[in-house]
Amino acid sequence: MVKQLCILGSTGSIGTQTLDVVRAYPDRYSVYAICANRSVDKLVEQAKEFQPEVVCIADESLYEPLRAALADLPIKVWAGSESIAEVVTMPSIDVVVAAMVGYAGLRPTIEAIKAGKTIALANKETLVVAGEIICELALQHHTPILPVDSEHSAIFQSLVGEDRSEIEKILLTASGGPFRTFSLEQMQTVTAADALKHPNWEMGAKITIDSASMMNKGFEVIEAKWLFGVPVEKIQVLVHPQSIVHSAVQFTDGAIKAQLGAPDMKLPIQYALSFPERLASDFPRADLFALKNLTFEEPDLHRFPNLGLAYEAMRRGGNIPCVLNAANEVVNLAFREGRCGFLQMSDIISQTMDKAAYIQKPTYEDYVQTDQEARKIAEDLLIIH
Ligand code: MG
Repeated sequence: MVKQLCILGSTGSIGTQTLDVVRAYPDRYSVYAICANRSVDKLVEQAKEFQPEVVCIADESLYEPLRAALADLPIKVWAGSESIAEVVTMPSIDVVVAAMVGYAGLRPTIEAIKAGKTIALANKETLVVAGEIICELALQHHTPILPVDSEHSAIFQSLVGEDRSEIEKILLTASGGPFRTFSLEQMQTVTAADALKHPNWEMGAKITIDSASMMNKGFEVIEAKWLFGVPVEKIQVLVHPQSIVHSAVQFTDGAIKAQLGAPDMKLPIQYALSFPERLASDFPRADLFALKNLTFEEPDLHRFPNLGLAYEAMRRGGNIPCVLNAANEVVNLAFREGRCGFLQMSDIISQTMDKAAYIQKPTYEDYVQTDQEARKIAEDLLIIH
């Protein structure tokens, strides 16, 4: 049976690599719908190649050029965030690949879960913001959530055939990013261009900055907690600069299982689509003979306070992880635009977490409200700084 895919964020790094997998296995996967935020030209190119039923652009002002470019083809063209929330529920779709960036991924992911679609989740912010709601809904609608994030795919692969009650610890690896060996003084003056030179992984701009600041790893701790039902105290981050061990699980008998491989997102993407099968691929192999050594260090929370802030957000619970995410989206963009220093990002996030109103058991509407409030607080703090 051919699986029909809906790809949210099809023009981004994960989206384009998902299409590579489809290209390699046209007898197994077919593209039913693709959605992008603003990249019209790329979306048109993808639509012409994959001939989906529906193409959707989040930015409504780009509807007209998109429609005009696809006017000769029998493709429905939609625009706006409401349309994206609707497209994911279409009956023919089997799998929704949630690869949008940031908070924008939350609403369509919720709608897709409610419609019973299998979720291949790359948008970690969805679980950071509203992990509890997402997990409850997934349980209620019997919707599998399969991780696309390389670390979570590694944990997921290590857990196949295991009983989750026998997990002692999750060992979540981090590359450490481009500033791993920098002093605090050096980090004061780094720019977005410096941060965008990631040593091992090729990713979109937002996540590359999150990787450099280690907020990405903080988010991944939260993501792992929700995906695998493990409290954050049992999730240990290890800085592993070679990015070969993609993460591991330690069991109650002391055994450790890990998944290793070359740092290439195509494998975790393909595994999320093919699970429980493995499909042959020509992706790069990790040559164990060529590896001189595999090293593991404890993360330095003094130089990378974002990781500590993520643990703190989970300890405080309620809507605080949502505040963490919103403030981070604001400072991440500000840093990329040169409006905020690298170290300043953590200060503003921390202050926003203290200033935002606390809600212990937030509803979806509370999260929407919290997201707006936290963005406003962080924006105001940026002006003062
Ligand atoms: Mg990752």
